[in-house]
Amino acid sequence: MSEWIDDKIKEIADRAAEKGLCAHCLGRVVAKAGTGMSNEERGMELADILGKDLSSTCWLCKNIFNNVPRYAQAVADALFTVESDNFLVGCRVEPEIIERERLLWEEIGTELAESIKSELNREIGKAVLPLVDRAVEFRNPQVVAVVDTRFASVELDVAPLYIYGRYLKLSREIPQTVWPCRSCRGKGCPCCGGTGKMYSTSVQEQIGDPAKELVDASEHLFHGMGREDIDALMLGNGRPFVLELKQPRIRDIDLDELERIINCSELVQVQGLRIADRSEVAAIKAATPNKEYRAVVRVEGKVNKERVNEVAKSLANLYIDQRTPSRVSHRRADLVRRRRIISAEIEEVRDDTVVLRLETEAGTYVKEFISGDGGRTVPNLSDALGVPCRVETLDVIGIKD
Ligand SMILES: [Zn+2]
Ligand SMILES: [Zn+2]
Repeated sequence: MSEWIDDKIKEIADRAAEKGLCAHCLGRVVAKAGTGMSNEERGMELADILGKDLSSTCWLCKNIFNNVPRYAQAVADALFTVESDNFLVGCRVEPEIIERERLLWEEIGTELAESIKSELNREIGKAVLPLVDRAVEFRNPQVVAVVDTRFASVELDVAPLYIYGRYLKLSREIPQTVWPCRSCRGKGCPCCGGTGKMYSTSVQEQIGDPAKELVDASEHLFHGMGREDIDALMLGNGRPFVLELKQPRIRDIDLDELERIINCSELVQVQGLRIADRSEVAAIKAATPNKEYRAVVRVEGKVNKERVNEVAKSLANLYIDQRTPSRVSHRRADLVRRRRIISAEIEEVRDDTVVLRLETEAGTYVKEFISGDGGRTVPNLSDALGVPCRVETLDVIGIKD
């Protein structure tokens, strides 16, 4: 039965045992030898063969393994405060124990050892299993319970909950995300009426606040596939987003109910809510979909319908060069970007207004394409029509993802 114990292992274990170790700590110095048993069993077998006594006060761990049932109960109690299908145990061990272990390994020259943290995590996890009706999950745990072994206290690290959907923005007065006050940066001051925000609400809050409440989360983050200007509506098929809910106590969320609650808002609507995962955040951030716009354009001068239609035709498949617009040049590098107008269609021509439908490549500055931005965008609609044009309202009516 002890064929896993060769002379080398005997030698290592013999030197380790000199320190006065418990069965766990003795077994652990050669943990990688002899599979299918716990370190404790391994240690007892070694002590037996070497004819050594196991220590009743372990030099290395000070009998920390006696506390495993206590740690397990503390983990179970903490886990019961949140909803999850699975969990993983982690632990913090006092630095003196880690240091003694490092010295011991150095002294006895073992390459077969396992760390005390790793054994504690496993042994506590095993002891938690019968106390909770949840599985252990190593790769993607919904909750990591971190035990501080000095105080038997437990901290929970709950994985965020991600919800994917598409939103419509029906107001020209709210931004996509929470916009902290410029003067106080969110603390609250007279400028912002104590709210800490530049705008009373946002797409993020209209969606995130009810979601946060439903799952009892600590906060929400909003990841949109790009964003529209505050004064632009987001219509059509909506803009994809992922809502991230931090430290949710509830994971089993009723998305139909959430959709119903959000859609009571007159400012924001959502559709197609589903549970997502972390990888979709990066995907949504990296996406560069073409976009479709409806622009109501004020034309400062007389134009006739035929002329407007003729110009619209010439815009299809047109490459334009856009120098960083003056309105954003304070926060973006001054560059010239080449973008494509994919299609243009006139919906309506009135005396001094033209309603234009445009499909453009991602990253096109539409307002500047229409005004010309003082010659920073060429070619542009104003030059093409021969009269100054400016956008009165601009709505996104399609995200072509
Ligand atoms: Zn020990
Ligand atoms: Zn403020």
